[in-house]
Amino acid sequence: MDLRVRALESVLTQKGYIDPAALDRLIDTYQTRIGPRNGASVVARAWVDAEFHEWLLRDATAAIASMGYAGRQGEHMQVVANAPERHNLVVCTLCSCYPWPVLGLPPTWYKSAPYRSRAVRDPRGVLADFGVVLAEEVEIRVWDSTAELRYLVLPERPVGTESMDEAALASLVTRDSMIGTGLALKPSP
Ligand code: FE
Repeated sequence: MDLRVRALESVLTQKGYIDPAALDRLIDTYQTRIGPRNGASVVARAWVDAEFHEWLLRDATAAIASMGYAGRQGEHMQVVANAPERHNLVVCTLCSCYPWPVLGLPPTWYKSAPYRSRAVRDPRGVLADFGVVLAEEVEIRVWDSTAELRYLVLPERPVGTESMDEAALASLVTRDSMIGTGLALKPSP
């Protein structure tokens, strides 16, 4: 796949359809400037601000854009909130649809065929592989991202974080916790 992509890039460059420098800038932007820290700040705000929390669940696209995170692959967003009785997991069974403005570029495993098929058939097994073991009575809902709609999981706020401010809370929010293959980190004692 790597070779095919590079071959395609060479042909398109030779024909003058793309500028490799522009491609490098795009990739660098999504790898370094835009990334899961954006999503983490959205989650942290929802944890501390009840009004924002309600807005985020009602109209995620607008609520997220109000924090300056918008653009390609994030035009239509839906936030799904974890609760004690329900855990959410996001996949794109067709390809690799992913909310770039809040999470950056998808990890390799997210694009892999085994994750894409097994997340639907055996979500509990997939979670166990990621080290997340939920009680049997916790329902797992799997959300299939599409080109039209991208999902972001709102993880549960960890216990013992009552005195933490928004920035400190954001540091507990991992990329995987916003895909649903992880949980928010516990605060260090
Ligand atoms: Fe996709």
